Parts: sequence; structure tokens; C-alpha cells
Amino acid sequence: MNLSDIDLINISQFLISIMMVVVFILAWRIVEQKKYVLYWAIFYAFAALNGILNATSDVFPDRNVYWVVVNACSLVTQLLALGGFRSRAGKAPFPIFLVGYFVVVELLVIYFTMINPHMGLRMVFIPYSGALTVVLIAVQIIQVNRPLRTAEKSAAFVFVLYSLVQLSAGTLALLQGAARNEHYLSLYSQVNFLFMPAFFTGLGLFTLLILVDDLASKLKQQVITDYLTGLLNRRGFKQKADALIQQQSRTGVSLAVIVADIDRFKSINDQYGHQVGDEVLQHVSKWMHRLLLPPAVMGRTGGEEFAAVVPAANIDAAWQLAEHLRQQLSQQSRNTNPDLHITGSFGVAMVQDSLEQALIQADQAMYQAKAEGRNRVVVGDH
Ligand code: GH3
Ligand code: MG
Ligand code: MG
Repeated sequence: MNLSDIDLINISQFLISIMMVVVFILAWRIVEQKKYVLYWAIFYAFAALNGILNATSDVFPDRNVYWVVVNACSLVTQLLALGGFRSRAGKAPFPIFLVGYFVVVELLVIYFTMINPHMGLRMVFIPYSGALTVVLIAVQIIQVNRPLRTAEKSAAFVFVLYSLVQLSAGTLALLQGAARNEHYLSLYSQVNFLFMPAFFTGLGLFTLLILVDDLASKLKQQVITDYLTGLLNRRGFKQKADALIQQQSRTGVSLAVIVADIDRFKSINDQYGHQVGDEVLQHVSKWMHRLLLPPAVMGRTGGEEFAAVVPAANIDAAWQLAEHLRQQLSQQSRNTNPDLHITGSFGVAMVQDSLEQALIQADQAMYQAKAEGRNRVVVGDH
């Protein structure tokens, strides 16, 4: 057996791809069994097949048939890679227009291989389509309605780099014109086969990095979210409120803390059951949260206790907002279920030294509101 350099590279691509198949199947099992992780595993299975086909081209009796088959395999890998990222973005992975596009590219390859042979054109479609595919993948990655994560930025960057390599390889192949040209063919091979193993590994690693980042972000979010109401939990409230205070201290805008505790909540549980109690907590959260505009931060800080940090010019403005919340709470409760009579006691305080200090003051004020008969707002001492 006498293996050429390119054979060696193809075999190396095969081995890398097989390893990636295993990695992505394991990642699929470890991380929530998302379908798109499986698509990536299948993508690498086809990449492995591609490597094998490239390395065993001599085995095929007919060069043209070989060329059409190996290109079909390349196009399937492109479709799978893009489909995986479309699926991650919540879109249909393989819509008809996308499949149609790849079929058209394959038909062009067949046409310029078998029907109207043209060396440059029969070679150009796969690398050009690959360049387009990885750019479309980068677009899928960065088209999100939230700040881009580090993994997403770096992956999009690597995908665009890879598209430049594909574009260069394709252009070198095209420059041959209709007939085979050893000079351009050799340049094409150098660009294509030199970069391929590195980029195939890179694509997999950056895709995994995105997966890791997705999971980390989700877990971070869960750690600060209250399961029942979807509001920030105590930890999340502290985190976000502190961040808001830091930010506002730079701009000089003053902030107030409002704490609220549902009145006689235990009796709602006792009378109607825990399930109804839970629903009341969900309603109350929704009613109050939608009255607060950004950048206000609100959380469920205890069983039936809520806290918010809100921009307020002074304590009177803060009191007014708390009073509005109190009135809306009992109003909404009357509208929703007149039997329940849900009310809350509120305490307010300006943020002066620290969040903790303001929370203590607002808490004391809230207990005073309880002592004075509940369903009222009391301003904390300062
Ligand atoms: P007060 O007006 O003095 O605040 O009276 P209260 O009954 O609201 O206060 P207390 O602190 O005595 O009782 C709070 C109750 O809230 C006790 C607890 O069973 C209930 N509770 C806490 N967390 C949850 C929850 O997640 N779901 C339900 N259904 N009840 C909860
Ligand atoms: Mg209570
Ligand atoms: Mg309480």
C-alpha cells in the first residue's frame, strides 16, 4: 500500500470525525438529549464517510460516479450542519427550500460532470456551497434576541474564517476552466486538504463550546429563578438588585426598595388548600411584576414575600409606587376571585448605604404595616 499525503489527510479526517461522532452522541446523552446534538453527531458520521470516500477514490470503477457520490455526501454534511444549528435556533431543521437548494447543487454537479463536462464548474459548487453554508450557520448563531455569548461569538468567527478557506479553494478550482489544470488543481488541493482536518476539529470544538455555554447559561438562570412564579428568587434578586445599585450609583439616579408580604396568606392555604395558595402566589407575582418598568428589579424573597428595587426620585415617589401596587393587588384580586380578598402589607425605604440596609428598613416598615392593621404602605425610618 502506498498512501499519498492527501490520503493521509483524508484518513486523519475520518478518524477525527469518528471521534466527534462519539463525542456528540455522549454530549447528547449528557446534555438534555437535544435533537440538534444528534444532528451534529450524524453530520460527523457523514464527514467520516466523506473522508473514507476521499481516501478510497481509486476503488470506484467510474471516476464520474465517484465524483457525484462524494459530492452528494459533502452536501449531506452541509445540510446536517446547518440543520443542527437551525434546530438549536428553534427553526425547522430541514425545510423544503433548504433540501431543494442542496438538490439543485447536486444536479449542477451531475450536469457538469456527466452531461456537459467542465472541470472548474464541476469542482466549484461544493466548496462555494460549503462557504455559503458556514456563513448561514454563523447567521443562525448570531441571530438571537439577547446579548451574544462568548462561545457564540467565537464560533461564528471560526465559521466565517472557514467560509473564506472554502471560498479560496473553490476559486482555485474554478480558475482551471473547462479542462483539468495541474497547477490550479494542486493549489486547490493544498488549500482544501491542508485546512480541512483543523477546521473540522475546530468546528466540532466550537460547536461543543456553544453547547457547554448553553447549558451553563441555563443553569445560571435556574439558580436565580423561582420555580413557582418565574420571578427572581432571593439569590437572583440580591444579584440583580446589587448590579442595578452599582449601575445607578454611577449615574446618580436614586433608588428605593419596596417589600410586600401577602396578608393572612396562611388562612388562604388553610381554607382553600396549598394548590390555590400556589396559584395566588403566581397571580400576585404577575400583577405586581407587570406594574414595574425596567430597570426595576423584582423578586420573590420568601414564601409570600416579595421585594423590588425601583428608581424613585424620593421617598414620596417610592411611597406612591408602593401604594399603587397595593391598590392594584387588591383590585386585581377582587376582579379575579371576589371570595379571596387578597391584600398585601408594604414597606418602603430609599437605598442609601447598601441594599441590605434598605431591605432591613423596608422590612421593619412592612411589619409596622402589619401591626397597624395590614393592607397599607408604611415608610421606613432613615
Ligand atoms: P401575615 O398577614 O401576618 O403575613 O400572615 P400570613 O399568614 O401571611 O403569614 P405567615 O408568615 O404566618 O404565613 C405565611 C404562609 O405562607 C405560611 C406558609 O405555609 C405559606 N407559604 C409559604 N410559601 C408557600 C408556597 O410556596 N406555597 C403556598 N401555597 N404557601 C406558602
Ligand atoms: Mg404574610
Ligand atoms: Mg411572611
